[in-house]
Amino acid sequence: QSVETLLEVNNIEVIYNHVILVLKGVSLTVPKGGITALLGGNGAGKTTTLKAISNLLHSERGEVTKGSIEYRGEPVADSSPSELVKKGVIQVMEGRHCFEHLTIEENLMTGAYTRRDGGAAADLEMVYNYFPRLKERRKSQAGYTSGGEQQMCAIGRALMSRPETILLDEPSMGLAPQLVEEIFGIVKNLNEKEGVSFLLAEQNTNVALRFAHHGYILESGRVVMEGPAAELRENPDVKEFYLGMS
Ligand code: ATP
Repeated sequence: QSVETLLEVNNIEVIYNHVILVLKGVSLTVPKGGITALLGGNGAGKTTTLKAISNLLHSERGEVTKGSIEYRGEPVADSSPSELVKKGVIQVMEGRHCFEHLTIEENLMTGAYTRRDGGAAADLEMVYNYFPRLKERRKSQAGYTSGGEQQMCAIGRALMSRPETILLDEPSMGLAPQLVEEIFGIVKNLNEKEGVSFLLAEQNTNVALRFAHHGYILESGRVVMEGPAAELRENPDVKEFYLGMS
């Protein structure tokens, strides 16, 4: 029985400012029910790939100049970020964008804006169930919570739209190792128990390959390696260049 493909990125090229070629033909697929990691060093093109998918490049003067992006077999190149949310795809941007002046709970409620069925209260409980820390801090102004809590808040807010797929950009950034483990553990839980599929961009290859099912490694805008996470973990080149244990 074959696995259902949700997202299919086919040979995309991205150019910034009409001249800077940053993605040079990137292809990847995200299967339903999987955690797919997009790996690579600083500037490899991970964020650009995620933004190309969720149509967030225009404000940065970037554009997809070649290739195609499909979600459930439908082209989504012309779908705005909010249309994508309706289709089930939401991006959690790098740097955990929470509204600093709103409380954690108010932040979470802003994520329910696409819903019409009044299920927000139940979803809030679902989010608190996965993120007990957010429940404890629900009345706190987000700007006064820790980096880890803000990252949780950003993921929690995305969950409030009941996404099928979350594009998660660098969840480990700036967080202590223990918190990184905690957040990846929650991602795994959400994947297993809620069936949320993830495409996550990470510089932290080590942790990403422990939690992901499949990985793609980007270098200078090209996929240089891909495979099941367990195989990538054992690959000598990956060990030497990305896992730091040659
Ligand atoms: P990071 O971990 O630093 O976010 P990344 O793999 O996500 O790295 P990108 O942010 O996608 O990499 O950047 C890829 C390349 O594109 C880099 O060389 C970067 O300098 C360039 N770049 C990113 N945004 C722009 C922009 N708005 N204009 C021009 N070049 C850009």
